[in-house]
Amino acid sequence: MFNGYFVDDQDKVYAELLSRDGILKVEHVEVSELIVLAKELLEKKPDIVALDYRLDEKLTKIKPDQTYKGSALAQHLRDVAIDHPERDFPLILVSSEEKLQKLYRPDRTAHDLFDRVYTKAEILTESERVQAESIDLCAAYARLRNLEGKYEVVDLTGIDVDDADQINFQEFRELVETSKAPHLVVKSFYRQLIKRVGPLLSMDDVAARLGVSTDSVQLALDALDDSGARYKGLLSEGWPRWWLYRFDRWAEKIFGGRPIRIPANARAKKLSEVLGNEFSAAKSPWNGRDDELISFSCACCRLPAEIRHSVSLFDSTVPRYSTVPRICWDCVQTDRYLKVSPPLVIADSEKELVKDVLRMDRKTDEVVA
Ligand SMILES: [Zn+2]
Repeated sequence: MFNGYFVDDQDKVYAELLSRDGILKVEHVEVSELIVLAKELLEKKPDIVALDYRLDEKLTKIKPDQTYKGSALAQHLRDVAIDHPERDFPLILVSSEEKLQKLYRPDRTAHDLFDRVYTKAEILTESERVQAESIDLCAAYARLRNLEGKYEVVDLTGIDVDDADQINFQEFRELVETSKAPHLVVKSFYRQLIKRVGPLLSMDDVAARLGVSTDSVQLALDALDDSGARYKGLLSEGWPRWWLYRFDRWAEKIFGGRPIRIPANARAKKLSEVLGNEFSAAKSPWNGRDDELISFSCACCRLPAEIRHSVSLFDSTVPRYSTVPRICWDCVQTDRYLKVSPPLVIADSEKELVKDVLRMDRKTDEVVA
């Protein structure tokens, strides 16, 4: 059973929405003076703390001149964790969509302090997923606290020792193994491994590589699990992932080579024969055809998409062992990529192409005046 605290002066309902019977109990805590509140939280030995970015509205316990932002409290708690890694715990930022939109621009660094950022709407509509992720964060920190600073990538990823080369990337290893506290290990795992397409694939990535719709991919995931492809390391309960090298070996047996060189409809047919199930082919988000060479999940709409109708994003932090994220032309032409928070940034080298896509006919791929 994990114990959590939700710091906010309004909206007590979120403490309940984050809780799960018998596994995670989140209590509401009122805002008080920063040092007093930090001490109170630390004394409770929490497994997780969630807070709103705006702690300076509708105050009851503190005077207006003692107000502070959620990031100030988070920074204080993280500083304590560096000196006392055995007391480190996950921090979650919970805020309204509107406040987050504003926050992303002036104060990007505030996000770095938190393990996850959730909007209140997201917690209301997807509480099961948010709970599962929060519980997995609690479990990850509990495991890391017990390791007393001995963080080893092979151990933490749970990879077979014989396959350790598949995760032996110096930049990742150095980040993890020299970390001073659990929150730094979790940050590296989440940002460098879980969130990216590299050694691990998400459900959306697997569907795209198989050329099938995300709705029909489950039976293939079950087969992948049976073949031992499921990732079982840190954060694997909250964020299901599959090892790329295991996926490649498994797919090779079914398709006799790299599946992404075969049109999506032919791949779906082959997979249906081999696994005895009806897989539906992934359709191009751009032209709706099911015979495209679908190969990746769009970084914006998450739908399976094809390289020839996509552009790459600008991302200065892509590690060498992951792929540069791409978005489909549908997300370009509809401006969807600008409406997500934070907005996605297309690579400069694609700027001319983007101008064309904005005026392109989807049936002919011809630019119309
Ligand atoms: Zn898209």
